[in-house]
Amino acid sequence: MIGQARTILKNVFGYDEFRPLQFEIIQHILSKKDALVVMPTGGGKSLCYQIPAMIFGGLTVVVSPLISLMKDQVEQMVQSGVAAAVLNSALPTDEYRQNLQLVKRKKARMLYLAPEALLKNSMLELLSAVDIECLAIDEAHCISQWGHDFRPEYRRLAEVRDHFPGAVCVALTATATPRVRADIKASLHMNRGREFLASFNRENLYLEILPKDNPADQTVDFIRQFPDQSGIIYCYSRKQVEDLNAILETEGFSVRPYHAGLSDHDRHRNQEAFIRDDVQIIVATIAFGMGIDKPNVRFVVHFDLPKNIESYYQEIGRAGRDGLRSHCLLLFSYADVQKIKYFIDQKDTHEKRVAHIHLNALLRYAETEVCRRIPLLNYFGEEHAVDTCSMCDNCLAEKKEKVDISVAAQKFLSCVKRSGEMFGSVHIIDVLRGSKAKKVMQFGHHQLSTYGIGQDYSKKQWQQLSRQFLHQGLVIQDMDYGSLQLTAKGWDVLKGKLKIRGQLELKDSMAPAAAETVKLADLDYDRELFEILRQTRKQLADDARVPPFVIFADKTLVEMAAFFPQSHENFLDMHGIGQVKAEKYGDLFMQVIGSYCREKQIQERPRKKPPALPVQPDPTPATPAKEVKPRFISVGEMFDAGRSLGEIMDTFGIKQTTVIDHLVRYVREGFALSGDKILQASSLPDHQLERVIEAFDQCGNEYLKPAFDFLDGTVHYDELAILRLYHLIKKNGP
Ligand code: ADP
Ligand code: ZN
Repeated sequence: MIGQARTILKNVFGYDEFRPLQFEIIQHILSKKDALVVMPTGGGKSLCYQIPAMIFGGLTVVVSPLISLMKDQVEQMVQSGVAAAVLNSALPTDEYRQNLQLVKRKKARMLYLAPEALLKNSMLELLSAVDIECLAIDEAHCISQWGHDFRPEYRRLAEVRDHFPGAVCVALTATATPRVRADIKASLHMNRGREFLASFNRENLYLEILPKDNPADQTVDFIRQFPDQSGIIYCYSRKQVEDLNAILETEGFSVRPYHAGLSDHDRHRNQEAFIRDDVQIIVATIAFGMGIDKPNVRFVVHFDLPKNIESYYQEIGRAGRDGLRSHCLLLFSYADVQKIKYFIDQKDTHEKRVAHIHLNALLRYAETEVCRRIPLLNYFGEEHAVDTCSMCDNCLAEKKEKVDISVAAQKFLSCVKRSGEMFGSVHIIDVLRGSKAKKVMQFGHHQLSTYGIGQDYSKKQWQQLSRQFLHQGLVIQDMDYGSLQLTAKGWDVLKGKLKIRGQLELKDSMAPAAAETVKLADLDYDRELFEILRQTRKQLADDARVPPFVIFADKTLVEMAAFFPQSHENFLDMHGIGQVKAEKYGDLFMQVIGSYCREKQIQERPRKKPPALPVQPDPTPATPAKEVKPRFISVGEMFDAGRSLGEIMDTFGIKQTTVIDHLVRYVREGFALSGDKILQASSLPDHQLERVIEAFDQCGNEYLKPAFDFLDGTVHYDELAILRLYHLIKKNGP
């Protein structure tokens, strides 16, 4: 059964590898053991029950609280050729009846239900005639009163378990403190259940914090880097949402507001437009995002300070579910901190204390000079394994050299002084750069001696410099007005008594954020073709009345624009394309790609490298889209194709134990191998072979040491390694 999982991963979902824990979880569910899965948003929870659902003979019931999410999930499954259905009261009658028939006639593999729908007697009766193999409970934290989204109907799901004693239960959530986790397991009677706890590190999110000086300008500058890409901007208040929305509209962005003051109808319409890529940006209060599963949100801006780290993490978590690089910007000001402190002080003593603790954790995160992931993951009780991540502002800054910036500082400080210490950095920079802005003229600052003396640096460079002046304590900023004033240290610099060093961005070459448009992936892809493919996808989606991501993920289009597939075989190699989707959309997309390639004289670039040959330096490094296959796959494929261990050792220049290790990984990832061929590599006599197999039966095959001890050290580790592989293959095999 387990060998099938990988085949389904590739043929149905079109993915090459499992994400961390997915395979273990699937294995666990397939052996009918309960599981609690805690993974961050975008970690890939759904696959953990979708794949078993397709392997089990009977039905998998998926419980989920949000009807809109169910619809999209079912749509995605159906698009991939899986018999999934949803039953809820919002469906048109004929569709409801049709889906009901699918279930009754045992044609459906998956049935999505809201808890209240499942708990109805009529539904339980219907389902008692069907063989239920698995009960998957999404958003399982809703079970717990300690969770942030308790729903009483969820508590009653335990009753349902009694109706289907043969069904394995898997509960999934993205947020769970130990207390909530225990609560979920107890409520669902998961006695023999195991917890799978994934890392909360979202590697594809770039984390950045900027001091908030002129937030509207900063936001506009920021989102200009994401033409046509989806993003969410969070504000503290409705009014702020409306104001910013108006500003962005004037600037020509495709944007809609979302807050509690709008009618249900308007909120729904704006959200739907966003999901369908009809609108690029949503400006929202924190209420936005719960019910959406849009995978291609490319940026999240916190225009105002979030409430606490937990909400911050949830909100940025809505970016980059598809695994592509996404940018999270927080505009930070101490004035916002004051505002929050003010609200906290209105609370009662206990609440006040808790709120202060939360706020302080957030401040630690904002003020940290080390990798941002360290305080963030620490908060969730996770130690970040590495010191630097190269996906946060602090890590990138460390890599840059420091230079003498005293002269720039003198110009800046002098301008602050001459304009009366009454203005913020935006205005000072305008004066330095000789801007003709109204405000400059109004105050007569074009007549200052410092007017126009800073033309050698761009606006961006000056902004970065001014932040460093603030950080290094040359100026302080007034909390209420944002105006800058010189400190004693600033005076010393101005008078030339003190030199200071800092970072200076080169003109035009900036952190990932700042190039004119942000790249989606490490892959080099053709932006123009990507746009054309997006249009094609949008058209199809609109015709089918589904969101575009249901047809193809952005990553799929990125790969098409990098490899230009024009044969069915190469098309199937693209991320996220399984058999059914290739059948359905292959011709159309290949036609689009083909005519683009002919016009631009671009050659198709096969993604797969020929497997068996020794790895040699590529003589044409200009080909950007080179994807190297993981070593364990190449090794596995060679072995599967009939090469001996010795040949593989020679090809890669590795030891036999290493080859075996690769093969173990290959099998653990769900590939099939012939067990008999492995046995040939062993030199043990038959009777010993049997003892070793028995040892693995007794001790499990996770590690070698227990079996070694079981056999009193009579069998060498090298032999054990070979037979462990054999044992694994037999256990995983059909
Ligand atoms: P979650 O429910 O944990 O938030 P999803 O199940 O929605 O996450 O998965 C997030 C995204 O990752 C989806 O677009 C999904 O198709 C994709 N995904 C899941 N597993 C894999 C995988 N093994 N390889 C590539 N993409 C995957
Ligand atoms: Zn970092």
